[in-house]
Amino acid sequence: MAAYDYETHDYDVVVIGAGGSGLRATLGMAEQGLRTACVTKVFPTRSHTVAAQGGIAASLGNMGPDNWQWHMYDTVKGSDWLGDTDAMEYLAREAPKAVYELEHYGVPFSRTEEGKIYQRPFGGHTTEFGDGPAVQRTCAAADRTGHAILHTLYGQSLKERAEFYIEYFAIDLLMSDDGQCRGVLAWKLDDGTMHVFNAKMTVLATGGYGRAYFSATSAHTCTGDGGGMVARAGLPLQDMEFVQFHPTGIYGSGCLITEGARGEGGYLTNAEGERFMERYAPQYKDLAPRDYVSRSMTMEIREGRGVGEHKDHIHLNLNHLPAEALAERLPGISESARIFAGVDVTREPIPVLPTVHYNMGGIPTNYWGEALNPTKDDPTAVVPGLMAVGEAGCASVHGANRLGSNSLIDLVVFGRAAAIRAGKVVDAESAVPAAPEAAIDAAFARFDSYRNAKGGTPTAELRLEMQRTMQADAAVFRATDTLKDGVTRMTDIAAKLDDLHVTDRSLIWNTDLMETLELTNLMPNALATITGAEARHESRGAHAHEDHPDRDDKAWRVHTVARVDGNKVDLTYRPVITDTLTTEDEGGIAKQKIAPKARTF
Ligand SMILES: Cc1cc2nc3c(=O)[nH]c(=O)nc-3n(C[C@H](O)[C@H](O)[C@H](O)COP(=O)(O)OP(=O)(O)OC[C@H]3O[C@@H](n4cnc5c(N)ncnc54)[C@H](O)[C@@H]3O)c2cc1C
Repeated sequence: MAAYDYETHDYDVVVIGAGGSGLRATLGMAEQGLRTACVTKVFPTRSHTVAAQGGIAASLGNMGPDNWQWHMYDTVKGSDWLGDTDAMEYLAREAPKAVYELEHYGVPFSRTEEGKIYQRPFGGHTTEFGDGPAVQRTCAAADRTGHAILHTLYGQSLKERAEFYIEYFAIDLLMSDDGQCRGVLAWKLDDGTMHVFNAKMTVLATGGYGRAYFSATSAHTCTGDGGGMVARAGLPLQDMEFVQFHPTGIYGSGCLITEGARGEGGYLTNAEGERFMERYAPQYKDLAPRDYVSRSMTMEIREGRGVGEHKDHIHLNLNHLPAEALAERLPGISESARIFAGVDVTREPIPVLPTVHYNMGGIPTNYWGEALNPTKDDPTAVVPGLMAVGEAGCASVHGANRLGSNSLIDLVVFGRAAAIRAGKVVDAESAVPAAPEAAIDAAFARFDSYRNAKGGTPTAELRLEMQRTMQADAAVFRATDTLKDGVTRMTDIAAKLDDLHVTDRSLIWNTDLMETLELTNLMPNALATITGAEARHESRGAHAHEDHPDRDDKAWRVHTVARVDGNKVDLTYRPVITDTLTTEDEGGIAKQKIAPKARTF
């Protein structure tokens, strides 16, 4: 028995999330004739992807020589050798095709004089396997690339008759006793009705969990709901300790200034007006990867060379660039700088600070987007009926650090791959099996317990406690003592989910309850992050451990697999996939080219 009435919907595929990855998956599924529903808690074009500014990486070679092997090498090196090699090869090889597809769907890319897609330089993207100069690989629609992609994919999905369930909040996965995913329970926010979606395939495209931290560039809706649902289903999260800080969040507000600003010639200075990146990364300077630049900025501030009254931030200079170039290539960030920093970019530098931006970790998948439940005997065992794509997933192409503009391409390459795979494994002719009653009852029981939560801790208070702890103890630099302390504090904070107080008991537009459910999703993501960080005794990519400053490939070139149950985290490890998809003879990359070495710029 369920305490709530509900409506039932049967689909071949249900996609949760309408960001770039969710829409690309939805479109691909619908194109193949699969009956597809897309469930989203915000209107599709309000998903966080809309805020992506800088662009999407693909080796089109429109501005100079480039090829997918160079892109793959940069991705491998960017990941600090933690990415899965097969997935990284798939990403780099399929990227040009995926971008041309976007072009044909109608994405209004910026153009070169000859009418080709315009490409700009971005951090960590180089030529000649890291020996040559920076490459112009990032395809852009001015500084509103995500906006353009999202609107185009939404229109195309409607054309293919995908069905949208907008402002429906997915509560929990509905799993069978033998571990198959059978669909999802969702709550329609504007009228309070409940909906069971039975599906042969469920695709989590719920985005990242930036809001586990106090200061983040991501939208307030980035609450790791997919990771929360997966953790509650007893399934693991992978490599969660790798959290990317973007070097240029606006000081104070956290609003993003795209790396494209440095791609177009912008540079960072300290209190002495020095272009300090020349010291840290002599070859690529301000276009070194994000983890590198964020650490360099933090060192400058620590050593007393920060700018401003409190010497606690850095300047990003664009005022030397021609005003017409700023207006044409970076109109959006010129506006953001005016609104959020009160700065006219044609005259003054922008005050910036490294800000939480992207989650490399997520739900482990293979390069077809199929969710994994690794065991000792089978580290790539697939969860039947479940996929994860986009920032919610971990394929893993970004490993320990993502290169700028490699996320948008990840969304479309793996959104498309998931659709191709579903076309093979989902039988469109068969009947849709009903989700088990017991799973529906359990999901309602959890929902109802929070709806009627009468404890002593308001949701906003507990959320702030979590955010401040994560910001303090799982930051750009990490240390044994603070991480240990952080794990203890986060374990206590997570236990307080049992003491929450929800004031509003209604079912219609109950933001108090929705934010509570989101907090129950953020919490396992945050716990896995800090626990994984505490356990990893090395420095790799975004995980910079002061007491273990070197990368240790012998002990630690492994993926962290975290299972979160309440406030407890169980950690195991699975091997990194080091085999390429194709051999050198088949036109692939030579294995010695991507063998681990020191990561310098
Ligand atoms: C400010 C900013 C700028 C960026 N710029 C770039 C860039 O230039 N290039 C680049 O490569 N990357 C960039 N990134 C990173 C990239 O944009 C994101 O990683 C990517 O957009 C995430 O897309 P997604 O499809 O995974 O999820 P999102 O776009 O975050 O969408 C998540 C979707 O899931 C839905 N959802 C979530 N939970 C639920 C639930 N419980 N029930 C129902 N629906 C749910 C939401 O409604 C939404 O539709 C940027 C990120 C930020 C924050």
